Amino acid sequence: MFAILAFLFNCLSLLNNKYFIYFYNVMSRFFDPHIHMYSRTTDDYEKMSLSGIEVIVQPSFWLGSPRTSVGTFVDYWEHMITYETMRAQNFGIEQFVCISVNPKESIMRPLAFEATGIMEKEFVNRERVVAVGEIGYNIINDLEEEIFVKQLELCKRDNLLAMIHLPHIDKPKAMDKMRRIFDQNNYEFNNILIDHNTEETIQKTLDWGAWAGLSVYPNTKLSPKRVIDIVNRYGSNRIMVNSAADWGISDPLSVPLTAREMRKNNCKREDIDKVTFFNAYEFFKQSKKFTWSP
Ligand SMILES: [Zn+2]
Repeated sequence: MFAILAFLFNCLSLLNNKYFIYFYNVMSRFFDPHIHMYSRTTDDYEKMSLSGIEVIVQPSFWLGSPRTSVGTFVDYWEHMITYETMRAQNFGIEQFVCISVNPKESIMRPLAFEATGIMEKEFVNRERVVAVGEIGYNIINDLEEEIFVKQLELCKRDNLLAMIHLPHIDKPKAMDKMRRIFDQNNYEFNNILIDHNTEETIQKTLDWGAWAGLSVYPNTKLSPKRVIDIVNRYGSNRIMVNSAADWGISDPLSVPLTAREMRKNNCKREDIDKVTFFNAYEFFKQSKKFTWSP
């Protein structure tokens, strides 16, 4: 009798576990919260789909050459919202978009101001636009900061999520400058995802109460091994792995690859599920335009 009651109790506690509810009947489900599919091929979509990637977020990035008119922003954002969504859906993947004037493009005047004006009026409220991003610093200067702050203010005013790009060089300096901006304006850290963290920045990002992106990217960003070390040291709360795949030598399968390496290294199932799926879902579902659910 006692054994039956204990068994029923165990079943009930399992059903109460939110991770169990999402994952009980599947092998692996993945969410890549930062990938630039604009620069990738249909072969990538095919492999991603077969690897279990079900949902992706595509932030605005540098197109690979300088923009010459505001129309190129308009066409690019429209392309991501409509055509890229359809392309992903053809492979059973749901795609959402972050709109921004990104750090590399934010130093162009007057183009950056024209583009942020149109973004604000015509694009941030569009379907599938779940955040403003990537925004932040590239070479860390005042011109970049001006457009960064302007876009953060828009997020605050309209209660939008923000995806912040940490620069490739001198991430701690960018964190210090950002902290001063946050202190002056009282932003809601729960609405902020700080991306491209490393061992140098992760502690601060988590201490601030922001969400933390870890990009697994050959050569210039993190390896799965470094992600495992970070998760072992700092835990899995609020951390999400992404591929940041773009024009460079990068891997659109970085999220499932990291999950596999975590399994091989005996990481806890719950940690794997959180950093490769669940935390990204928890962050983006705060946007009413994130219409997908597991
Ligand atoms: Zn990116």
